Amino acid sequence: MKEKIKLNFKINEDYLVFHVVSSGFFSDKHKKDIAAFRNFAWGKSNVLYNFLRGAYDPSLGVAEFSKKILEFVSSLRKSKEFKLILDQTKDYLSFCEKQWMQNYVIGHKTIKDLTGFKLDETFDVYITHPSLANGAFLAPSTIRWGHSEDWPNYTTVYLWHEVLHSYFQPSTEINHALIELITDNELRIRLNGGEYPPLVGHETLSELREKILPYWRDYLKRNKKDIFELEKALEKKLKLARLSIFLALCLCSFVLFRSPSLS
Ligand SMILES: [Zn+2]
Repeated sequence: MKEKIKLNFKINEDYLVFHVVSSGFFSDKHKKDIAAFRNFAWGKSNVLYNFLRGAYDPSLGVAEFSKKILEFVSSLRKSKEFKLILDQTKDYLSFCEKQWMQNYVIGHKTIKDLTGFKLDETFDVYITHPSLANGAFLAPSTIRWGHSEDWPNYTTVYLWHEVLHSYFQPSTEINHALIELITDNELRIRLNGGEYPPLVGHETLSELREKILPYWRDYLKRNKKDIFELEKALEKKLKLARLSIFLALCLCSFVLFRSPSLS
């Protein structure tokens, strides 16, 4: 395979400290260890702990505060409580890397077939603890990832999801819904079997996904696929649909306004 998506899996310990104290739980596994680390950090300084959680106290001077934060994070990294979190995250990194490699051939083939993209980019993937929610693409080439394995090959599906965000910039609701059809749904069933609907993806995009689904089904039947062409066609179609609803509403209110009142 000549072209290849390369993922460099890494852990940034400063970022891991920040993420462990600031993000929500997605799984109960290791919950006790995470709680122990948070309690330890809170015990060291509740003011600095709150800062890491996004609650900055403006009465503190920025310069002095920055120095304290650096010292705080550095001392947390040295604790035995953090060491445990780090070891669990390292194990999870190996799991992610192994699964990505095991599924690479089918993943690459599927995404290539569905999009027509040249798949030759390199990304740094910053892994966080698997019991806490993470998953984001940051331009130009950074991915943040950590999540419980909610169904088989979950990690592979969502790493491809984040990779595709880099091809669809700027992100819009339409291209995000398309990414979900490509990865969360089509790649998922090609790896795990099964069918859709029901469609998987963000709750906020569910209506849009359903609207796109018939066009997506037609698109899947094409021999040569160009996903940007589908994106453009959908933008036009959905804009037209919105315009016709707007015109219908205008017409209705006009008719109502003009109707003689009943007496
Ligand atoms: Zn997304």
